[in-house]
Amino acid sequence: MIYDLHTHSNASDGILSPVALVMRARQRGVTHLALTDHDTVQGLQSAREQAEIEGITLINGIEFSCLWAGRGIHVVGLNVDVSCAALCNAITTQLEARDARAEEIGRRLEKAGIPQALEGARRLACDAVLGRPHFARYLVEKGFVSNINAAFKQYLGAGKPGDIKHRWPDIASMVAAIRSAGGVPVIAHPAKYELTRTKLRELLGEFKEAGGLALEVVSGQQAKNETENLAAIAAQFDLYASCGSDFHVPDQPWQELGSFTPLPPTCRPVWRLWH
Ligand code: MN
Ligand code: MN
Ligand code: MN
Repeated sequence: MIYDLHTHSNASDGILSPVALVMRARQRGVTHLALTDHDTVQGLQSAREQAEIEGITLINGIEFSCLWAGRGIHVVGLNVDVSCAALCNAITTQLEARDARAEEIGRRLEKAGIPQALEGARRLACDAVLGRPHFARYLVEKGFVSNINAAFKQYLGAGKPGDIKHRWPDIASMVAAIRSAGGVPVIAHPAKYELTRTKLRELLGEFKEAGGLALEVVSGQQAKNETENLAAIAAQFDLYASCGSDFHVPDQPWQELGSFTPLPPTCRPVWRLWH
């Protein structure tokens, strides 16, 4: 059995439709797939229908952006009941925050000499949840940068004009919404935040206190010692362990569906919480 519990479709900033994502997951040997689009559950219905055709198990998921200690932290919710009112409210709050943030990114890019960025990003996003990758695609389209990585490096990444975190709701409220929906809150890709060990402990302490249950011990292809470190920290904080590719686009082998080392045997896999 291969669990991939962190993936994106074009309902947020991924490239593939939910249907194409599920087909690709099955081809890659994934048996249990969570679709965890940013701040939306729009893709789940068609993903579920396709998962039935493909004979794989779909787990309802979502990835919330949150603010903690002035930093942007992502919390994945797994096995959520999408009809839960508290979850729907949290999604609405997030989408409002996202709109406000997108407008601010647009204004800042305008100041940095990029006209019409908000309109351009909206056009590229179509009906998807608007995110920085859509701004990045616009910057590439208009020739301000040569590729997506350069767009983040020069305009959208940490410390650049388009890097705006303060709009996000706090982590405790998002954890509470996920728990209300019967779901499992997971700290996503803990290594990505570049926290010191002390700060990571602080985060996990507060996350646990708020009702958090799991840590993403494996996020895509990562170094063995990183996996071991995170497994040890999960055990110390009595957190379940999750694993996922964080798949967005097909041409990034380090984030390919189902393509990561399995959880260490010492971990308590997060799926025990719903089996
Ligand atoms: Mn993303
Ligand atoms: Mn994330
Ligand atoms: Mn993600």
